[in-house]
This record gives sequence, C-alpha cells and structure tokens, in this order.
Amino acid sequence: MASLLPSNQQKKQPVIVSLEGRTLIIDCLFYFNRRALQEKPDPDRNETYAEIISDGIAEKWHGTYPASAVPASIRPVDWQVPANVDGTSEDTVQLDVRIRQLDPRQRIDELLTCYRDSWRQGFMAWLTRRRAVKISVRPMLIMPAHVISPLYRRIWGFLRTGQLESLGLNWSPRHPGRIVIPPYKQVWMIKAVAAHEAGHVFGLGDAYGAIYRFYHEAPSTLGYMMNNNQQVHAEEVRMLLQAHLDKRMQFFPRKWNTRRFFSGLVCEFRQRSRQMQANWSGSKHSWLSVRRESRLSDRGEHCLSANPQKKDQRRNERR
Ligand SMILES: [Zn+2]
Repeated sequence: MASLLPSNQQKKQPVIVSLEGRTLIIDCLFYFNRRALQEKPDPDRNETYAEIISDGIAEKWHGTYPASAVPASIRPVDWQVPANVDGTSEDTVQLDVRIRQLDPRQRIDELLTCYRDSWRQGFMAWLTRRRAVKISVRPMLIMPAHVISPLYRRIWGFLRTGQLESLGLNWSPRHPGRIVIPPYKQVWMIKAVAAHEAGHVFGLGDAYGAIYRFYHEAPSTLGYMMNNNQQVHAEEVRMLLQAHLDKRMQFFPRKWNTRRFFSGLVCEFRQRSRQMQANWSGSKHSWLSVRRESRLSDRGEHCLSANPQKKDQRRNERR
C-alpha cells in the first residue's frame, strides 16, 4: 500500500487516505450524537440520520476519476495521463469511501481496562488513539450546516492560511473539525449536505459565493460538490489529496469586488433576519421555507445574482 503519509502519523487521523493500486481509499472514523443515532427523518424509511449521512458521504464521493486527479508526486509513473484532460487514453482511478463508526462506550471500556492493568498504559492508549470526527444533528437558530473547529483552534487558523474561511475551521489532517447538520426531513438533502460538509473534513474550502469568499463564486465550479452539493469532480479529488500531502486546507480562488460584497452583505442580513424570525415563530410553514432559504444561502444562491436566467438555471439544476 502506498500511503500518503508515514503510517505512525496517519494512524491517529480521523480520515486516512491511501492509494492501493488504482484504488484511492478514504477511511473515515465518525461518531454521531444521540439524535443522529436514534431519530429517523422519514417515517417511511427505517434509516437513522447517522445511516443516511454515512450513505450520502460514501455514495457521493465514490466514483471513477481520471488519473490526473492524483497529484504527480504520488502518481505511479506508468499511469497514462494526457496533457489534454479530454484525452481518451487516460487511465482512471477508483475512489472508495469506507466509514467506521466509533462507539464511545467501547472507548471508555478500553480505557478502563487499561486503567485496571496500568495507569500509564491507559494514558498512553488515550494519547495515541485514533481521533474521530463528531457529526451532530441538531436544530440551529440562524446557522446552516457547517464544519467547525474546537474553540482552542479557532481564529488563529487565519494566520496559517490568510483565508477568512480558516477563522472557524482551522483544518489539519489530525483536527479536521466537526460537522453540524440541521434535522432536515428530505433524505436527498441530508445526503447532499453531508457530502458537502465531508468535503470540508477532507480538506477542501467552499467554491460558492459565501461571505468569507467576498460573495465570489469560483469560476467554472457550478455543479461541483463544494459549490452546490451536486457531484464530486476530479479537481476536488486532486485538492483532497493535495490537502493531505501538504497538511493544509485547499481553497478555491476568490476575488474582491466592492459592489458585489456590500450588496451580498445586505442580502445575507435580510435572509438571516427572516430565518431568525421564522425560527422564533415556529410555524410549520415558516420552518419549511427557512430550510429552503438556509440551504440556498449556504450554497451560493444570492439575491445579488446579476443574471436572472443563470439563477433560474441553478435552481433547476438543484432539483
Ligand atoms: Zn461549505
């Protein structure tokens, strides 16, 4: 197996990326909050949030990608990669996602067993344990789904990357953040949002016009998982691998435009105010419309879209 990192460093990571032959394996260790483990969003389907989220991440990231998705530094020399990406002779690489679930009770049992044998041994086992990404399903007043670092890692991530996105998510392979998802009712939406948030845990920034990107959508990324939750593209796989090689989050390009920024700010303020009012009112109608709006604002749908036709096209593509 060709590891992307020395195994002694990699084994503590919640997300372990490796290349076996022509298969890229993303091995994830997750643990879910009680709500995710026990509640079922759709009474007609016997699946919990945890199962749907895991399936969504595995399904959306799984696929066959061109060999050019693998950075040259770890790509076997005999792989055919044409200079032109549209070349027909290019080799492909398969991407598989393997998800394991951590049972917190099991970890406590292990620790207690070690403690009974030797305090030092137990402490070392805790210190060298493999970390897990926490995934919580819980309602939020104004925040959409997101990935966030623990308090002690926030803010100073900006100094490492120069990106506003790093203020909340200070990503590293050992500390990729935790996922928070509102209790959406539609299964397709839970899967799409979970796959997008997993992209952050895998080391990718957003591509849509978020506030920390100055409302600038990365060019030619419509349909990308990190833009509007649609499909993982080869470039996103390449960025995932590069993030784990460099141990640095990978960001899509952004651009400053004063007019776009301030009109985006006004639009977002209005959307969040409406969302907060609707959440307070608690009516079913408001909650449904808020979920829709929250999703749109989170994934780059803004009222400042200069071209109404483009906006309609995006809406149709999301359906
Ligand atoms: Zn995002």
